[in-house]
Amino acid sequence: MENQDDTEAVSNQENAVRAGLQSFLNDLHLKYKPLRDGALANYIPELAKVNPDLFSICVMTVDGQIYKVGDEDRLFTIQSISKLFVYGLALEEHGRDYVLTKVGVEPTGDAFNAIVLDQRSKRPYNPMVNAGAIATTSLIKGSGPTERLNSMLEMFRRYIGHDIFVDISTFMSERTTGHRNRAIAHLMLNFGMIDEKIDEALDLYFQQCSIMVNCQDLAVMAATLANKGLNPITKEQAIKKCYIKDILSVMYTCGMYNFAGEWVYKVGLPAKSGVCGGIIVVVPNLMGIGVYSPLLDTNGNSVRGIKVCEELSQKFGLHLFDCSMNASKFL
Ligand code: GLN
Repeated sequence: MENQDDTEAVSNQENAVRAGLQSFLNDLHLKYKPLRDGALANYIPELAKVNPDLFSICVMTVDGQIYKVGDEDRLFTIQSISKLFVYGLALEEHGRDYVLTKVGVEPTGDAFNAIVLDQRSKRPYNPMVNAGAIATTSLIKGSGPTERLNSMLEMFRRYIGHDIFVDISTFMSERTTGHRNRAIAHLMLNFGMIDEKIDEALDLYFQQCSIMVNCQDLAVMAATLANKGLNPITKEQAIKKCYIKDILSVMYTCGMYNFAGEWVYKVGLPAKSGVCGGIIVVVPNLMGIGVYSPLLDTNGNSVRGIKVCEELSQKFGLHLFDCSMNASKFL
């Protein structure tokens, strides 16, 4: 039988670590709040007019504990962070082999919105750049645009744990200004990589980018991925367990645009960012992290977000290849 003193000592230690995490988040928030480097995305007014001071960090463990600081309730559009979830839906609906014929898994070294396909296979390089994301979005099943949109929203609901909605003015702006995305879709149509309903696919892609979330939602979504697809709050399975490794692998190699290499070197965790200023980070079997701060660097990643993740990874030994630390001891 377990010694009661030992059990008490372990739970005291756990409580201390948990209190340590909350105060570390508070310190990070205080430290990086004055950092004003970077610029707001300005290709549409909905992103250009955001308050650059907004800043929030949220961590959710796989057992549903939440730690947060800052403007964690503030809503923003999910933008490119949506891509990994839609990739998961495409995998569930079509299987790995079919999806691989439509989109690759190679990092590109090009900008996320480059009008480029793999020369030999004519596939988009990966599902995290716009070309790949438009291809996976075009795979969503449904008998028409409404059914496809509802199926996508339902998928996001499973990860987030509550109903979500599309911000109409962002959607309209994305649609009006989305000439590069339209060019990418035409290029893929030319090579037979997507079917002819490209306007429908593009609308759905613009809608997925315009879904409203807050920083806490990002943490819950990340924690769901960290928890083998099971939402830690609602206990609903958001995606089949067998596809988690596909999603996390692609996030790991392609999730942070042209910063992906430096990111895995320093932070060492699967992640995805968006031009909204959000970053979602998965610590497998341990926790999900969401950071939101809309000032972006030249790669399109949140400046404060990167700093916060670097420090969190270092402090708690979260880097997947860090042999000197065992992160699970800490939480
Ligand atoms: N809506 C944006 C686009 O398609 C999403 C880009 C992003 O977050 N990187 O260009």
